[in-house]
Amino acid sequence: MNRMYLIALAAVVALAGAAVWAFNTVLEFEKPAVTVKDDLSTIGQGKAIALTVTDRKSGIRSVSVSIAQEGRETELFTRAYPKGTEEEALSVEVNPRARGLKDGPAAITVTAEDHSWLRNRGAVSIETVIDTVPPQIALISTAHNVNTGGTGVAVYRVSEDVTTTGLKMGDRFFRGYPISIQGKPCHIAYFAVPTTAGKGDLKILITAKDRAGNESTALLPHLVREKKFKADKITISRAFIDGMAPAFRRQDPRVPTTPLEAFLFINEKLRDENFMTIREACSKTQPKPLWEGTFLRMRNAAPMAGFGEERTYWFEGMAVSRSTHLGVDLASTEHAPIEAANHGTVVFAGPLGIYGNAVIVDHGLGLCSLYAHLSEIGVKPGQAVTRGETLGASGSTGLASGDHLHFSILVGGEFVNPTEWWDAHWIRDNVTGKLTEPSSQPPPPAAKAQPAKAKPKPKKKGSRVRS
Ligand SMILES: [Zn+2]
Repeated sequence: MNRMYLIALAAVVALAGAAVWAFNTVLEFEKPAVTVKDDLSTIGQGKAIALTVTDRKSGIRSVSVSIAQEGRETELFTRAYPKGTEEEALSVEVNPRARGLKDGPAAITVTAEDHSWLRNRGAVSIETVIDTVPPQIALISTAHNVNTGGTGVAVYRVSEDVTTTGLKMGDRFFRGYPISIQGKPCHIAYFAVPTTAGKGDLKILITAKDRAGNESTALLPHLVREKKFKADKITISRAFIDGMAPAFRRQDPRVPTTPLEAFLFINEKLRDENFMTIREACSKTQPKPLWEGTFLRMRNAAPMAGFGEERTYWFEGMAVSRSTHLGVDLASTEHAPIEAANHGTVVFAGPLGIYGNAVIVDHGLGLCSLYAHLSEIGVKPGQAVTRGETLGASGSTGLASGDHLHFSILVGGEFVNPTEWWDAHWIRDNVTGKLTEPSSQPPPPAAKAQPAKAKPKPKKKGSRVRS
């Protein structure tokens, strides 16, 4: 072939390559994409504008956000970017009051330019309404006298539609659910009082956030009655660990092969992981109460261990582990029927680590009951159950020695003392009684008394672990 021809061809190829590069970088025609994620129909004090800008070709050169009201434009954000920024996620605070904006209509504009020689510009404009009036919170329930380890109930009203509401207690949040009391919209929230709460050291805030992001808080007045919980020393023998560890190891190959390490893994790491599974199941709660009356206690069953017991585990003369017993252990005959404590929906049924074969029933508004160590399960997730309906049979699966039921109640994903929920008077004074306006109606008659408790069985000697 002609040499000149080859040179010309190479030049054409090089030019074409340069053109392709140019059209993808410095001389591209594609404008940056601007995406605003939030609903910005209203903007309040707490609202930030979450947005992303992308430009996969020449890259982002600049982003600016502004708000216009009554012909006046206020810049909220502007930033220039060096070459090579393909994507940027931003959260831009509006803070209407500090910027002198008024409550009322406004328009937000987000503009982005790229590094192309053509300076392609992408823009999004959104009509909004500035609303800086926070929701008002009016507490309806009174006499929040709670026990350590127990349940509290708050009923309150908020002055407008809210996106998030509930009770804040340190880093815990207990969701408030909308209910109607005598035709008026209200919110109800159950909260769990930690077993370790002392008098006066619990701060509970009712919070409500509206669509515009305005948030209000109000202190929930309450009185904590300190309950004493038993301390229990549990001796773990090598034989006990050798007996139970293989079943755990079959389900979970992470269980160590040395006895003490196996026990610590099961009693601590697996316990924590199981709690996360329980919380996840309880989060599938229905936004309405499904239960009525008192919660059933296992029939003819002797109490083997109570709620809140502080357990220290001893192995070969040394204290090796601790846990708090966050349920009640009840024992009857072997493979005794296990009944749903109240109406609800099964949200978990299956193996659950230290809890063995377990069933979790949702009773609505974040209230759940847990049945552990079962030998058999007769229900499936999603199944509706009625109070007293058989869920399975008692057993000793999981971290248990001897056939018994470990029964727990949870509110908002936290364990609470089940005995309160077995008590008709407590339910009337603390739950159902709060579902009426103050001094409007007499309390309903107490529910039927519970069947008599059987005599406690003598405790077995030797290794004894219940969970
Ligand atoms: Zn237990």
